[in-house]
Amino acid sequence: MSGGTVLFLEKDRELQVVMPAFLRERGYRVECGRSVREARAVLERTQVDAAVVDGLLPGMVGMDFLQELRRTRPTLPILFASRLWNEEPGREQLLRELRVARILKKPYTPEELYIWVDQALASARPAAPPPKAQDTLAAELAAANAEYGRHLRRRLASLTEEVARARAGATEALEAAYYDAHKLHGSAGSFGFAPVGEAAGRLEALLKPARAGAAADWDAVELALRELATRISAQTATPGGGALPPAPDAAAEPSRPPDLLGAVLVVDEDAALLAEVEKLGQEQAVRVVIAQDMDEAEERVRGQWLDGALLHVHLGGPEGGYAAAARLRSEERLHTLPLAFFSADGDLLHRVAAVHAGASLYLPRPFSAADFAGAVEQLVAARRPERSRVLVVDDDPEAMRELGRVVTGHHVEVVGLEDPFRLLEGLAEHRPDLLLLDVGLPGPSGFDLCRILRSMPEWQQLPIFFLTSRLGVEFRVAAFEAGADDYLTKPVLREELVARVHSRLERVRLLRERSERDPLTGLLLRRPFLEAVRARLSEARRQHKPLALCFLDVDHFKKVNDTYGHLAGDHVLTRLGRLLATRFRREDVRGRWGGEEFVVALMGETAESAREILARTAAELARVDFEGEQGEAFHVTFSAGIAEAPKEGADVEALLRAADARLYRAKANGRNRIEV
Ligand code: GH3
Ligand code: MG
Ligand code: MG
Repeated sequence: MSGGTVLFLEKDRELQVVMPAFLRERGYRVECGRSVREARAVLERTQVDAAVVDGLLPGMVGMDFLQELRRTRPTLPILFASRLWNEEPGREQLLRELRVARILKKPYTPEELYIWVDQALASARPAAPPPKAQDTLAAELAAANAEYGRHLRRRLASLTEEVARARAGATEALEAAYYDAHKLHGSAGSFGFAPVGEAAGRLEALLKPARAGAAADWDAVELALRELATRISAQTATPGGGALPPAPDAAAEPSRPPDLLGAVLVVDEDAALLAEVEKLGQEQAVRVVIAQDMDEAEERVRGQWLDGALLHVHLGGPEGGYAAAARLRSEERLHTLPLAFFSADGDLLHRVAAVHAGASLYLPRPFSAADFAGAVEQLVAARRPERSRVLVVDDDPEAMRELGRVVTGHHVEVVGLEDPFRLLEGLAEHRPDLLLLDVGLPGPSGFDLCRILRSMPEWQQLPIFFLTSRLGVEFRVAAFEAGADDYLTKPVLREELVARVHSRLERVRLLRERSERDPLTGLLLRRPFLEAVRARLSEARRQHKPLALCFLDVDHFKKVNDTYGHLAGDHVLTRLGRLLATRFRREDVRGRWGGEEFVVALMGETAESAREILARTAAELARVDFEGEQGEAFHVTFSAGIAEAPKEGADVEALLRAADARLYRAKANGRNRIEV
C-alpha cells in the first residue's frame, strides 16, 4: 500500500526526527521542512504526493502557506496539524476552500500520522478493487447457515417421534429427545437460528425433570414442540434457508423490520373490532397482536417484543381490564409495559383506577384510525427509554442507513450523524449507549474525537467502536491508544457487527441496572431516583401539570422481622417493590429510599388524586397473605405522606421534606394511613 513522497512541514525538531523516521520505515520518502522557505525549496526540486503542514510556521501562518500551495497544487492531498481542530470559521475555510483532507489535532501519534498519510495517498491513487476477504467469509458463513437450516426439519421429525415414544414411557426415547433438544439449543443460534435455539432450550428444560425421575408436564412439552416446529418452518421458509442474523436479544422474536412503528397487543372480546384493528395496523405499519381474552393474549405474546397494550376496560366483566393489566405486567419483561384502556362509556371510566392499573391513555370504543395511530405513537414513545441507543457517525448517508438497518432491533435504536464536528451536540441530544465512529471521515480525525470524549467525564464510560477499512497494526495501536473499545473492519460482516454491538449494549445495560437498581426490589436507588424525578419535574413544569411525590414506609416492620424472621421481612419488601413496579404508568418513577421506605412520583397527579391511587396499592398490599418462617400467616400495611409540585415545592428536595413530614404525621395518627 505504501510508497510516495511526503512533504513534512513542521518546526518542532523532535517531531522532525520521529515522524519522518516512522513513515520512512513504512516505505515513504519524506522531505522535511522547518519553515515556509524550506518548503518552497522542496517543492521546487521534487514531486511530492502529499503534504503534512503544521498550523504555525516560522515566517507565515500555515493557512496562508496552504493558500499559496493550492494555487500551484490544486489536488495535492494535505493534512493540516494544529493544536485546535474545531475552530469556526477556520475549519470551514480549511476543509471547503483549501480542501484539506484532514485536520489533525496535536499531539498525534506516529501511527495516526501514518494512517492518514496512507489514506490520503490511497485516495489520490486510482481506486483499487475492494478487499475480498470479508465477502468470502460472509459467503462461507451463509452457506454453513443454509446447510444447517436444511437439516432442521429432519431433526424436528425425529425429535417429535422421540417425544411421542417418551410420553408412552420409553426411557431411551426420553434420553434421546432430551439430548436432541439440548444440541439444538446449543447450536442453532450459531447458525443464525436463534429463535429455534431458544424454543429448543425451553423443550430441553421441560424434559429435564422427567430424566431425573419426576413427572413431566407433557402438555407443556407438546406446546414447546409445536412452538419449535412453528419457528423452524418460519425460519426455513425462504429458499436456501439462510436465516437473517437475528439480534441476540431478539432471540425469541420474529424479526421486526426497523421501519415498523411498533408492536402492540389489543385485547377485546369483539372479533369485529379486532379485525378492524388488524387492518389499521397494516395501514399504519404497526404490528398488532390481537386476542379475545387474556389466556389467548398470553399465548400470543410469548417471546414477542411489545411496545404496549390496549385493553378493553370491561374485559370479561365490569372493569375486568384492570385485572388483565395486572396479569400482563406480572410477567418479568412486561413489568413496566405502557398501557392504554378503551371503553364505550367514557365518563363512567374511573380515572384513578385506570392510572393505578397503568393507563397512560384512554380511548373511546370503537376507536378511529387517528386515535389508534396516536395511541401507538405514545405507547412506543413511553417504552423508548428502555431501548438502547447507538449513535453512528458516518458522512455517507447510504452506509449509515445500512448500518441502521442491520443494528436496529427490538431493544436497539440507531440514530445517525453526518457531520463529525457536531459530535458533542449529537451526543448531548441523543445520549447514546454506544458510539460507532467511522474513522475515515473527512475533516477531524476519529482518534481525536475519541480522545476528546475520553477527556470528558461525561463520556469516559461510553463504549466507542471504530469503523475502518484498515486492519494494520498501526491502526489497532492508534485506536486503542485513543481510547476506543473495539473496531470493526469495513465492509462489515453483518453477523459480527450485530453480535459485537448487541453484546456490548447488553453489558452496558447490566452494569447500569446493577448500579442504579436495588437488587431486593428491582426499584431505583436513591440517586437515580432523584435524577429521574428531576427530569419529570421539569417536564411537568413545561406542561403546567402537577406532580405528586409519595413517601411510603411499612408499618411496624421491625416487628415483622422480629416475629416472623428476617427472610419473611425481605419477602415483604420484594413483594411491595413488585407491586409498585407493576402498577402506575411507565412514566411514573418508583424507588427504594432505603430500608422499608419507598418513594413514588406520579406524573400529572395532584396530592388528592395520588392519595386515591395509592390507597388502591395499600388495599392490594393489605390483601397479600404473607408467611412467617414457621408458616404463620400475617399481613402488613404501610403509611404514606404525599406532597404536590409545584404547589408545595418546586424541587425534589422540598417535596421530599414535605412528604416526609406528612409520613411522620401518618405514623403519629395511628399508621396504615395516607396524609396529604
Ligand atoms: P414504623 O411503623 O414506625 O415505621 O416502625 P418500623 O418498625 O417499621 O420502623 P423502624 O424504622 O424502627 O424499623 C425499620 C426496620 O427495617 C429496621 C431494620 O432492621 C429493618 N430493615 C431495613 N432494611 C431491611 C431489609 O432490607 N430487610 C429486612 N428484612 N429488614 C430491613
Ligand atoms: Mg422507616
Ligand atoms: Mg416502618
